[in-house]
Amino acid sequence: MKVKIQVVIESDDGRVQDVAEVACLKRSTLTPEELGLNLAEAKQILQNVQQSMVGCQAAAYQAEQKQCPQCGRGRPQKGRHEIVFRTLFGRLKLPSLRLYRCPCEAVTEKTFSPLAELLTERTALSARFPSRLSKSLGRPFPMVHCASGSPMNSAAFSGMNSLPNCSHGWGSLRKPQPA
Ligand SMILES: [Zn+2]
Repeated sequence: MKVKIQVVIESDDGRVQDVAEVACLKRSTLTPEELGLNLAEAKQILQNVQQSMVGCQAAAYQAEQKQCPQCGRGRPQKGRHEIVFRTLFGRLKLPSLRLYRCPCEAVTEKTFSPLAELLTERTALSARFPSRLSKSLGRPFPMVHCASGSPMNSAAFSGMNSLPNCSHGWGSLRKPQPA
């Protein structure tokens, strides 16, 4: 059996803009270990979904910024570089455009990077405040328990282990009730 998981990005009017395969899982004869997802697969799938979604969001935002919001003239591209953005599911590298300002804009600097200006902290809010994302999902995050029975802390999740001033660790989240 093969299980493919795709992310389909649609515009507001329902047109498909991007389809990305984020996982292809193979299963043969059922064993307890192969029932459903294992932790490594789940983490990889979440990271791939995040990469695909963030990539599309960043590209759409930068495409909008190529036009001056005041007069509609195009803002020429000066260059592009890469920024690193930390999310709950790992570090993502995002292409970031540097654009020339429109002559009608009353600012001193001639160029700017829309994405770098938007993501000044380079850390997703959902990574800094997991409880907020958990609330938006309508349920607490499941806690992951290691062999000793104690919940894994944030260091177990790549991208979470060096967040500055993060006061909302995984340890503060409510444990799920046993089924
Ligand atoms: Zn303008």
